[in-house]
Amino acid sequence: MTHGIQEAVALAPARLKKSLGMEIGPWELGDVLDAVDGIAYAVDLDYRISAVGRTRWNESATNNGAPELGATLMLGQNLFDFIQGDDVREIYRRSIEKTMETLQPVALAMRCDSPEIRRELRLAITPLRTATIVRGVLFQSLAVDEQVRPPMDLFDFKALIDFTDAERLLPLVSLCSFCARVKQAASPAESAWIDAEEYYQLGGTSKVRISHGLCPECYREHYEM
Ligand SMILES: [Zn+2]
Repeated sequence: MTHGIQEAVALAPARLKKSLGMEIGPWELGDVLDAVDGIAYAVDLDYRISAVGRTRWNESATNNGAPELGATLMLGQNLFDFIQGDDVREIYRRSIEKTMETLQPVALAMRCDSPEIRRELRLAITPLRTATIVRGVLFQSLAVDEQVRPPMDLFDFKALIDFTDAERLLPLVSLCSFCARVKQAASPAESAWIDAEEYYQLGGTSKVRISHGLCPECYREHYEM
């Protein structure tokens, strides 16, 4: 049984709504997040997703081939269950801690390509607080640049997920979750991380498995922040 966000909110006991930080005067936080630009969602202090701007979240889930990950189903789930890669999770964790300590937004630049679009995102992480208490953290990602290009199946995550068992034996390619550069095989060399465009120019194919990680450059940038 599923409910729309309104029904879910109406059904939630007042105490739970308060702990989720969903009550902000006459509006529900989810309604406000739905009205702002980009993809916006909030987590509580236990990293549970407490509100989602549903329209663009649902568009994005559908475009990424995962319509089942709709906004309503995200409510109450742990943010870190949806972030791939230990290093990437650690960067999110540090960014959340930093924004709560400083009460200032933290901005992360990252690529989020789809097959036909090279896309640069800016993810802003901001504390959600009343006058004295931080009650959660707001995430808002905005596309700052999008360029149409010939399709690159490397970013067709649905197709990659739908591989048959035989295809699961395909070679592994690491994809940096922040800059979208890729690296074949187990080469430790920093120069092994190349743009997807170069990867294809060098004869790379889409018949690979993708593991999400962090290239050395992004590792240094985010771990030394
Ligand atoms: Zn990178």
